Amino acid sequence: MTILQAGAPVLRRNAHPVDPDKLTSPKLAELIDALRVGLVEAPGVGLAAPQIGVSLRVVLVQDPPEFHARVPEDRLAELERTPVAPYVLINPEVEAVGEERRTFFEGCLSVDGYCALVPRARTVRVRWLDPSGRYHEEVRSGWHARILQHEIDHLQGILYVERMLPRSFMTTLSYAEWVQKPIEAVHAAFGL
Ligand code: ZN
Repeated sequence: MTILQAGAPVLRRNAHPVDPDKLTSPKLAELIDALRVGLVEAPGVGLAAPQIGVSLRVVLVQDPPEFHARVPEDRLAELERTPVAPYVLINPEVEAVGEERRTFFEGCLSVDGYCALVPRARTVRVRWLDPSGRYHEEVRSGWHARILQHEIDHLQGILYVERMLPRSFMTTLSYAEWVQKPIEAVHAAFGL
């Protein structure tokens, strides 16, 4: 499965809403399957339909406990990162709750090989339909809220590079080094 990279026009389009009357269509089931396969192969914590070339408002997010195995406890606590079972959001809408922001490194499967510090709302309210047509409204915080903001941005044709602190943009190789250090050291080194 190919995950499209920055430069693919579909990544810059406003994705179309899914017609709620067509949730049972085989095409949608196929798309959801493709997202599941793509996210397992990648692997990653989120994948939006435009990233596999489908301009529809569908995203899949997850944060399986296996991904946390190599992350130190205190780091997980700092990121407010807790396991998230895979789930599909159709026609999702997200809005910030409160003024609190958190700034952490973030990457994207469609901007392979790079990452940057991205400020995001700490807490969001998210509304969506699940594949069975049920409406959900939840408040999410921490890393889960970051994943949702990143993935739902994809449906607006927005990549994290538009949200990042530009001077923190770096290769994943450099990131492997900087992620070990306190965030203040990163800010000092790059004049943020
Ligand atoms: Zn992405």
